[in-house]
Amino acid sequence: SRQFTRPLNDLANQFNMILSAVAGAERVFQIMDEKEEKNDESQAKDITSLEGDVRFDSVSFSYDQSVATLEEVSFHATPGQTVALVGPTGAGKTTIISLLSRFYEVEQGQGHIYIDGMDIKNITRDSLRKQMAFVLQDSVLFKTTVRENIRYGRLSATDDEVIFAAKGANAHDFIMKLPNGYDTILDSEGQGISHGQRQLLSIARAMLANPSLLILDEATSSIDTITEMKINEALQRLMKGRTSFVIAHRLNTIQNADLIIVLKNGKLIEKGTHDSLLKANGFYAGLVHSQQGKSTLA
Ligand code: ADP
Repeated sequence: SRQFTRPLNDLANQFNMILSAVAGAERVFQIMDEKEEKNDESQAKDITSLEGDVRFDSVSFSYDQSVATLEEVSFHATPGQTVALVGPTGAGKTTIISLLSRFYEVEQGQGHIYIDGMDIKNITRDSLRKQMAFVLQDSVLFKTTVRENIRYGRLSATDDEVIFAAKGANAHDFIMKLPNGYDTILDSEGQGISHGQRQLLSIARAMLANPSLLILDEATSSIDTITEMKINEALQRLMKGRTSFVIAHRLNTIQNADLIIVLKNGKLIEKGTHDSLLKANGFYAGLVHSQQGKSTLA
């Protein structure tokens, strides 16, 4: 599982860089290769809000023009739904997220991605990404105060808004116990705070961003039970009313998803709810049965 957490973290690094650039902050994080991103199409429009209706229409993708990474992937998520992306490492889960956030582009003739009925090619990248937030296994931290780390979610947020978001994320209590509270300086490795606490900060950041679309990479590493409960509760709060894409490992998360997308070798082999997929008795049902008694899947 570590293998596929890295691409998404690279993605988030890029995202954070872009976020700060968008908001006009100092561009200290030169993580992204500017050359990689083509200009927006001339007809591309800025969006200021989204319902969160997401449709993949027969999307195919290849990183190198030879191997097909995704083959004719189609699905539809309605606003507020939770979509669980399930499948072995290398199946294409991260690629779906990369295309949705336009870190890679769907080429001409390779299908379409629609958000609220608009082809995402016709939405400017910056305005699209402003509608998205990422909560990852190893969230990106910057060498600055806890307060500023949270404020990365929305640079215009007031201190009160930062604290409100931290409370919503169940992060306030642990922050108040840090040596200097919200003024405690973190380092980029997150030294001095636990893995789980780091996730809570990431959730606080996403709360502040208040996005229509949420990307979650569920933690696979062990987190103590109490922090895990805090994370789950905060995530429930965060996901409410937003279309969420979860690269999911925990059976519990997957069971509760509105739509499970099962990928294998770049193909969407099954989609549906937990119950419908169990009834179908295919690949997903096999995965679930093979993991009987365990809380994770694949
Ligand atoms: P998952 O998230 O399900 O583990 P990915 O979407 O990360 O799968 O990867 C799908 C396939 O694409 C894998 O074979 C992977 O090696 C390949 N891949 C992922 N990212 C890149 C990249 N930036 N360049 C080339 N190949 C990539």
